[in-house]
Amino acid sequence: MDIPSAITPRDTRHTHTAIIIGTGFAGLGMAVALRKQGIDDFVILEKAHDVGGVWRDNRYPGAACDVPSHLYSFSFFPNANWTRKFAQQHEIFAYLQDCAQRFDLQRHVRFGAEVRAVDYQDKAALWTVTLKDGSALRSQLVVTAMGQLSLPALPRIEGMDRFEGKAFHSAQWDHSFDLAGKRVAVIGTGASAIQFVPAIAYKVTSLTVFQRSPAYILPRPDRPYTAWERLLCKSAPWTMRLRRLAIYVQYESRALAFTRMKWLMTPVGKWPFMRLLERQVSDPAVRRKMVPDDPIGCKRILLSSDYLATFDQPHVQLETDAIQRITPTGVQTHAGQHHGVDAIIYGTGFAATRFLAPLEIRGRQGKKLSDAWALGAKAYMGIMVPEFPNFFMLYGPNTNLGHNSIVYMIETQIAHVVRCLQKMKQSRASTIEVQPAAYQRFTADVQSRFANTVWVGCSSWYVDEQGYNSTTWPGFTLSYRWLARWGSLGAYRFTRTQPTTEGVTP
Ligand code: NAP
Repeated sequence: MDIPSAITPRDTRHTHTAIIIGTGFAGLGMAVALRKQGIDDFVILEKAHDVGGVWRDNRYPGAACDVPSHLYSFSFFPNANWTRKFAQQHEIFAYLQDCAQRFDLQRHVRFGAEVRAVDYQDKAALWTVTLKDGSALRSQLVVTAMGQLSLPALPRIEGMDRFEGKAFHSAQWDHSFDLAGKRVAVIGTGASAIQFVPAIAYKVTSLTVFQRSPAYILPRPDRPYTAWERLLCKSAPWTMRLRRLAIYVQYESRALAFTRMKWLMTPVGKWPFMRLLERQVSDPAVRRKMVPDDPIGCKRILLSSDYLATFDQPHVQLETDAIQRITPTGVQTHAGQHHGVDAIIYGTGFAATRFLAPLEIRGRQGKKLSDAWALGAKAYMGIMVPEFPNFFMLYGPNTNLGHNSIVYMIETQIAHVVRCLQKMKQSRASTIEVQPAAYQRFTADVQSRFANTVWVGCSSWYVDEQGYNSTTWPGFTLSYRWLARWGSLGAYRFTRTQPTTEGVTP
């Protein structure tokens, strides 16, 4: 697509049409969409030195996806070569690298470019993106594609900094440190921990897992694909699309229990969990500690066929007493027990509700996005905020899912952004901005819909300390897609300004 003349580069210093921040699924998908629209003048800024986002960073042992890969992949880039139903991290990472290569995106990426600030210049109707090294780029459009789970969260525990052994977060796994023969403590029992605990248990001398609250866990029906199945996908790609559709329908149907008929969670979630626990953990005292008090689904339901069984190994211990402090040689509980360890692994998750942190984002008249979000992040369609024209967020507020593939959601958002750009072109507008009334209506509606969902009534990474849910979409992905594709664009104001570069910070 030719960008409308009203927003073509307009001075001697180069202004990009678009800047995308991040090279995970969202960033790469957006880049492919821009290329398909004929937009070639864009830059993708990536703080690391390869593409891949969370699938580049989360390299802990056992890292794998908990959504089947034929659905957890782009619809426009199917992969007949998935070797298993639930691909492991290295395969998904390789898939994203292939995607960048196949669509010739590497030439757009500036690696090692960590963004510090993003500022809107009212007069010029341009964004200035400032990098950590002090350099700056200008662009008409900014698309953030930084995910909700890119900022590792470390707990605040007294004495953490005085621990003399090895300590790291699961998203920053130190593979140079050999865990073999070590006494290891794991803090946290979320989606990451349940994958790496069984993967390291066999090699350590002792493993103490500190559980603050247990999670509901269901078996992960993983298996390798046979050579015949892969050949079929390759030679008859429609079978692969059919497989994808079947997985989608199966996963989408789960939204019923999450958002409409909570009682369904008990027969389809809680009972199978109790059976798995009974089968895999022989000690009744340990079993009792592993049964959550929270309603099922409130925290993310986890998938693992071998996590619970790990606690039947004699050198693996479940510690449920609260941690009092970390000492130079181990972890001390409130009950007074000291666990001496050589290494501590924090499986303590991500600062999901700190959207776009630590970027400083300033819109019209220097208005800070962090101020607009003082009471919690929100956005129209999870994508746009008033007074931040031409600023699109992918995987933004209230677009995370508990029941289906986030890649599907991200593709929906990308298509919506493209729809907005096409409308800009038709109307020869230089800016698009969501109208405050539409923003208020939409975000209030999202919040009101939580009342009937499973996500109220417990603490989880979906909600902040005040219980405000800024992360999750409280409905079907189909309803979101319908809105994104067919909903009126009347929520937006398209403006044709005569921009000037006077006073623009280079
Ligand atoms: P998480 O699910 O948020 O789990 C964090 C764990 O750390 C929880 O058990 C939490 O306990 C515990 N914790 C946090 N602070 C603590 C403290 N101060 N003291 C003791 N325990 C503490 O984080 P995650 O496991 O990294 O997973 C985050 C999300 O990433 C997942 O929900 C999922 O969306 C995504 N993920 C996906 C996959 C995949 O297969 N696609 C794999 C891994 C992760 P409480 O429960 O008591 O808060």
